[in-house]
Amino acid sequence: MNFQQYDMPIDPVLCGALTISGDFVDIFIRGTHVGEVRPSGHIAPEGRHLIDCRGKLVSPSFVEGHIHLDKTHLGLALIPHVAGGTVTQRISAEKEIRRRLPASVAERGGRLIEQIAAFGTGFVRTHVDIDTELGLSSLHEVLRLKERYVDLVDIQIVAFPQSGILRDPGTFELLNEALANGADLVGGLDPAGIDDDIEGHLAAVFALAERHDAGIDIHLHDTGALGGFELRQIAARTKAAGLQGKVAVSHAYALGDLCDHEFGRTAESLASAGVAIMTNGPGTGSMPPVLELRSAGVTVFAGSDNIRDAWWPYGNGDMLDRAMMIGYRQNICAKEDLAYCFDMATTLPARVLGLDGYGIAPGCKADLVILASASVQDAVLDRPVARTVLKSGRVIVESGRRSSRPLAGGY
Ligand SMILES: [Zn+2]
Repeated sequence: MNFQQYDMPIDPVLCGALTISGDFVDIFIRGTHVGEVRPSGHIAPEGRHLIDCRGKLVSPSFVEGHIHLDKTHLGLALIPHVAGGTVTQRISAEKEIRRRLPASVAERGGRLIEQIAAFGTGFVRTHVDIDTELGLSSLHEVLRLKERYVDLVDIQIVAFPQSGILRDPGTFELLNEALANGADLVGGLDPAGIDDDIEGHLAAVFALAERHDAGIDIHLHDTGALGGFELRQIAARTKAAGLQGKVAVSHAYALGDLCDHEFGRTAESLASAGVAIMTNGPGTGSMPPVLELRSAGVTVFAGSDNIRDAWWPYGNGDMLDRAMMIGYRQNICAKEDLAYCFDMATTLPARVLGLDGYGIAPGCKADLVILASASVQDAVLDRPVARTVLKSGRVIVESGRRSSRPLAGGY
């Protein structure tokens, strides 16, 4: 671990900060939270720890909407990618590779947490594989990471049936156990494409959610009319279960290849059920049309998904990179639309994750990132490197610098 919490005998004041809403303010930190926010003015320096934010943008910490802390190979020599034409083939290839990984989830996931925290990510939703080979072993390791790195990130865990639920008998019971032992949400995976039973798969997922009063986040790669049908089924079940605002679908590639009529009725069903869509701006194939979904009232948020793992070798966990990639892939150019790209890495996933006290206002958590950018649009386009990051009111990275003094001890 190579983070330093810079010693600050007194609470800092962030002076002359440009907020994401366009105001110039002074932000007074009080302990772990924002104490006061005043229009930028003259602050007497006596007795204060001032952080000069003039010319800089101050944002609430980035929110990573979808990552796999247990899968990453970060820190290992590159493991050659094994191509697979279908999701099922990729799952098999991943299992072969993970059996001989020379480092634990704790080591690999820990490296990834440190990396994303340095980029300014303060909140994470991670999916964790649950299957009959792993049991709950990865969950237990990620739970330990969650505790170990509480000073850097807040972690929300999805119990993810990467090998399906019905085609891997025993997984339902494991998911149930995971939700009783620390997982926050229940996941799902291609009810048709993997389990070949839309009704059965969704019934299992929603039963677990209701039993544990948990949210849902389903990986859906199924494309075309089939994927559109599954999305409408998820929306209908969300309404019936009263889970509006607590359900997300990750990827939802189908939204990118439906005809206008099918897209319209699918987006309407998602909006009315409060089902959010996560995208990572995939490098190929169809993807959800972000701006059309926004117009339809559907919340779209960003996530990195796989980072340096068996699924693909790309990614670094920087949410500004991710916001840029989504904008680039969708040809998002207008000023207000570029701002939406920034929102997809901040306020929108914060809403989906149900984060309390997210923002820059009195009483909010002092989880902030200071960027050398003149606007949110510039932040997306420039992705400035030298960031200052505060977690719970303490500076953990200053102008991109981390020291070798351990914060939580190393592995
Ligand atoms: Zn994923």
